[in-house]
Amino acid sequence: MPRPPIPETEIPGPTVARLSMYRRLLRELAREGRTQAFSHELAALANNSPAQVRRDLMAIGLAGRPRFGYEAARLADRIGEVLARGRCERRAVLIGVGNLGRAILAHFAGQTEMAIVAAFDVDESKVDRVTAGCRCYHLRELPERVRQEAIDLAVLTVPAAVAQSVAELVVATGIRGILNFAPVPLRMPAEVFSDRLDIGAAMEKVAYFADRRQSAPRLT
Ligand code: NAD
Repeated sequence: MPRPPIPETEIPGPTVARLSMYRRLLRELAREGRTQAFSHELAALANNSPAQVRRDLMAIGLAGRPRFGYEAARLADRIGEVLARGRCERRAVLIGVGNLGRAILAHFAGQTEMAIVAAFDVDESKVDRVTAGCRCYHLRELPERVRQEAIDLAVLTVPAAVAQSVAELVVATGIRGILNFAPVPLRMPAEVFSDRLDIGAAMEKVAYFADRRQSAPRLT
């Protein structure tokens, strides 16, 4: 069967996030020996509706067959192909090997599709240390390492006060994607995509909606 082309138009952010989750779930199913996956199964695992799963997969040119579902491994590959534009892996660096940085390095240890291949810090006592298989270099080595390692994106886990200047160093290396954990917005040029993750804000959101559910009248 001919491979559908990779869509030229940008896929919306929430769809990208769901596709990434489906791929992880499909890999898990494939590891359990499953060859087929159905939209209702993916929906149950991802906590959304089968119609949403089918819409998301149609956005990348895939239609399932209701009785046979999707081939799990092929579907995971196709999602990877679209999200990474044909590259089989994404390579990231992490800057700031403190408490959060070390936890993220531990989480990504051994991953290949999204790999953190080097870490950086300005604290000499951390330089040359290996955390979860990832070596820490001095920040001044960033441009050289990025050139050698073909890096796609940077994860910033540095203090807020230095986040902007570190992000500017990252951009000067040619990296165009930054995931920022520091609690400050980054001012970045238009050709760079940066996103900020805030665990506190996510917890507040959960608490807010949980409160509303507690106070909502129960239907009996
Ligand atoms: P930490 O102090 O343990 O680690 C910070 C690390 O950054 C240290 O190793 C330090 O040496 C290094 N560093 C300092 N200046 C640097 C520079 N110019 N270049 C490279 N490295 C530098 O702090 P932490 O608890 O790991 O938190 C890290 C950041 O993440 C902070 O900005 C914190 O506010 C933020 N944070 C965000 C979330 C979230 O949900 N987004 C959660 C926790 C922490």
